[in-house]
Amino acid sequence: MSTVPDLQFEIVARDACSHARCGILHLPHGDVETPVFMPVGTQGTVKAMTQEELEALDFRIILCNTYHLYLRPGHERVARAGGLHRFIAWHRNILTDSGGFQVFSLQALRRVYEDGVEFRSHLDGSTHYFTPERAIAVQHALGADIIMAFDECPPNPSSYEQARAAMERTHRWAVRCLQAHDTAQALFGIVQGSVYEDLRAESARFISELDFPGIAIGGVAVGEEKAEIHRVVAFTAPLLPVEKPRYLMGVGEPDDILQAVACGVDMFDCVLPTRLARNAAMMTRRGRVNLRNARFAEEFGPVDPECDCPVCQRYSAAYLHHLFKAKEILAARLATFHNLYFYQRFMAQIRRAIREGNLEQFRGEFLQSYTPEQEPVPREE
Ligand SMILES: [Zn+2]
Repeated sequence: MSTVPDLQFEIVARDACSHARCGILHLPHGDVETPVFMPVGTQGTVKAMTQEELEALDFRIILCNTYHLYLRPGHERVARAGGLHRFIAWHRNILTDSGGFQVFSLQALRRVYEDGVEFRSHLDGSTHYFTPERAIAVQHALGADIIMAFDECPPNPSSYEQARAAMERTHRWAVRCLQAHDTAQALFGIVQGSVYEDLRAESARFISELDFPGIAIGGVAVGEEKAEIHRVVAFTAPLLPVEKPRYLMGVGEPDDILQAVACGVDMFDCVLPTRLARNAAMMTRRGRVNLRNARFAEEFGPVDPECDCPVCQRYSAAYLHHLFKAKEILAARLATFHNLYFYQRFMAQIRRAIREGNLEQFRGEFLQSYTPEQEPVPREE
């Protein structure tokens, strides 16, 4: 029933020593160079940034959350506004998730059936029911360029039986999503299987055989150790069709991105840069720093001397420290801008390294001076 998806993926360079590639996603609202990092705009806003600022940062695609927009302001209202692009005044590309991840995170507030999931709104406790068909209909109303299949993301840790059951339901739901899909929006399938390699292989095979123009790896970075994330991605990504874009959902630590890119992943999203910024953490070439730390009180130079973003060019670490201490709204704005700039520059460096054939060298140099963070990201979004 599905019509021809409005997405072309062109691979323009390949790394000789890994699965990494550079590509261009040709989408209705402009081209997107990959590997790409998509900032998260949960409520139709990348928190603390204006759309003008996202454009200034040269983001070509952002992610919005179906679950949140469905509950408020409601997908029907968004449709009456002319769709999500018009409603939020963002004229570039949008990807919406299916709501599955949020619904399954509600634990105490949800009940899973073969047909779908009943859940209670975290806003007012009202009861709702999402089926694959409903998740697709809501995403049709929102009108994003890329939409996602409704999947079951099992918690971590999950027993083998639990992971298998979630994977098999995800497969049945993937077929139903495709059957319900009749617009030109690009509908991506999602591979599940938790940390079990035979399940990941089975899921990769099943989802790859369906008619999706892009494929996501779901159920990763849901609380497992870094080494476990790397193992699952290294195993799963190369099993996906080479000619389709591959999207690793919710993974965004720079060292994890580097590893996944080498495994052939093209697309990333994560709340990391924006959420960290609101918690006074700024990304630098050496790792994360916390601006509330007293050592910045009289640091009159920039937060990251190696950063050429407008924030670091103009404002001192001491000033940012003061803004965070005083709980000024500007603190979150400046830190968010810097963190998003960090990601844009990082992804551009990765793409250049792939094109120039020295990704491995770039990765080595980057990891030599960058200390990966072991602290978890604070929850809130
Ligand atoms: Zn900066």
